Amino acid sequence: MGDAVDTTTFHVIGDICLVKFRDELTLPRKREEARRIQILVHVKTVCELQGIEGELRTPIVRKLLGGETVTVHKEHGVLYKLDVAKIMFSKGNVNERQRLTGLVQRNERILDMFAGIGYFTLPLAKTALPREIVACEKNLVAYHYLKENIVLNKVGGVIPLRRDCRTLTYHHAFDRILMGYFPGTETFLPHALRMTKPGGTIHYHNIYREDELWDAPHKHIADACAAAKRTFRVLNEHVVKSYSPHVLHVVVDVAIDGKKE
Ligand code: SAM
Repeated sequence: MGDAVDTTTFHVIGDICLVKFRDELTLPRKREEARRIQILVHVKTVCELQGIEGELRTPIVRKLLGGETVTVHKEHGVLYKLDVAKIMFSKGNVNERQRLTGLVQRNERILDMFAGIGYFTLPLAKTALPREIVACEKNLVAYHYLKENIVLNKVGGVIPLRRDCRTLTYHHAFDRILMGYFPGTETFLPHALRMTKPGGTIHYHNIYREDELWDAPHKHIADACAAAKRTFRVLNEHVVKSYSPHVLHVVVDVAIDGKKE
């Protein structure tokens, strides 16, 4: 074996390891490194994560070692089945998933606008006691796993919908809206606002440069609320994780009041 490689990061999803290489390496060298990692973390498959692309946040993944890319990842008692070659899973959002379960009140009606495979929906359905969670997802592959994961976790009250959330209409408004998506989340705020009950809460995720905080997210929220004639109060805001150098993934919890006359 050659010298140890300075891998940027690797994380384990179920029994698969996703590696991001810092250095430009040849493929044989990456495979050699994958073998070393496989022994270290006891996984069946090692893949290189080359990036995340496009509107649907699709991972660009190259298999380096092993077979299957479908796995079941367990986090705080919740099972997430996914194909890591087709669907992303951000372990960096684990605290946010936990935090949310502590905020939800009994009998709430929740809309998860970007449900994915159930990142937020599943822990909420499993540990909080909402009346219903409408889980909206545009990508067919993610939607397929969302439905499988609802069954796998034996959770009730979840209504999966394969839809672009911008076109979603529903027969009632919601107490809580989850906007677990970026970049460009501000463009979805008008759609979140039209579906939020007076007194409801929006969890607005997005990415901003460090020097934009917190003015830029406040302005995005204020502009959208002004256009929708709604008033708002910021309840809480914090950094979820670092996204890239000097760019942060943040969440702002916003209470939305009724229509202004
Ligand atoms: N919050 C997640 C976590 O905790 O790991 C990560 C974000 S998740 C990958 C975002 C999801 O939003 C993707 O599954 C993507 O397909 C979906 N999506 C993107 N645009 C959408 C839209 N307009 N309507 C509904 N779903 C959308």
